[in-house]
Amino acid sequence: MKKFLLLIILISLFCFFKENVANGTQIFATPNATTETPQEETIKSLQKKIDDVIPQINLSARSEQTKTAQIYGITLEELQIKTNKLRDLQITYQQHKTTLEKNKTLLLEIQTMKETVRVRFAPSPTGIPHIGNTRTALFNWLFARQNGGQFIVRFEDTDRKRYRPEAEEKILEILEFLGLNWDEGPKVGGPCGPYFQSQRLELYRQTAEELVQKGVAYYCFCSPQRLESLRKDQKEREQIPRYDRHCLSLSKK
Ligand SMILES: [Zn+2]
Repeated sequence: MKKFLLLIILISLFCFFKENVANGTQIFATPNATTETPQEETIKSLQKKIDDVIPQINLSARSEQTKTAQIYGITLEELQIKTNKLRDLQITYQQHKTTLEKNKTLLLEIQTMKETVRVRFAPSPTGIPHIGNTRTALFNWLFARQNGGQFIVRFEDTDRKRYRPEAEEKILEILEFLGLNWDEGPKVGGPCGPYFQSQRLELYRQTAEELVQKGVAYYCFCSPQRLESLRKDQKEREQIPRYDRHCLSLSKK
C-alpha cells in the first residue's frame, strides 16, 4: 500500500512538472554577439593615434632618423620623443588586441556552453532512492530536455561504509520506469566516463598533484579526529566550519 501511494505521488509530480517546466520560459538569454565590440573601437582609435604621431617607417637607422626629422622639420630629440610615444601606443595596442582576442574566445565558449546544457544526476547508492532524489533527477532531466542538452547519471559511490551494491540497480530501475532516459552514465557509457565516482579517484589524484606542483595547493596531514574536533569547536563558537590551514607551512616531509 505504501509503495502504491508513493508511486501515485511520483506519477502526479512527474506529470505536473513535465507540463509546467518543460513548457516554461527560456532560462538563459543568448549572449548578443555584436559586429563590433568596444575593444575593437578602442583598437581602431589607437591605430589612428599611432598613424597621427608618426608615419609607419623604419626609424632604427640613424640616417633614416635624420632624414625623417628633416622631412617633418623637427629636431632629432623631438623625433625621439615621438618615437617613444609611438612605442608606448604600440604596447597599449597590443594589450588591447590580446584582451579582445581573449574576450572573443570567452564569448565563443559561452555560446558553446549555451548549446550544450549538461546536467548531472549524482545519486548515492546507499539505499533505495527516496522521493527527493527522484525529484532532483526529474528536474535535471526536464532542464536538459528543454534546452536540448544532455542528462548524465554518475554514481556518487565513495562512501564505502554505507555503500549497497543493490541500490545502484534500484536507482536505474526507477529512472527507467519514469522514462528519465540518460544520455551518458552507467550501462550506456559516454565520452566523459567513468560514471562511478570511485573509479575517478586516480583522475582526481593526478589533478590534485598538478595543483600541488603549481604551488596552488598543499598537502594536509591532519587526522580525521583533529579535523572533526576543529569543526566541532568552530560550530560551538558559531563560526563557519572551515580548515584552519594548519599544514600550509609544513614541508612535504
Ligand atoms: Zn592539515
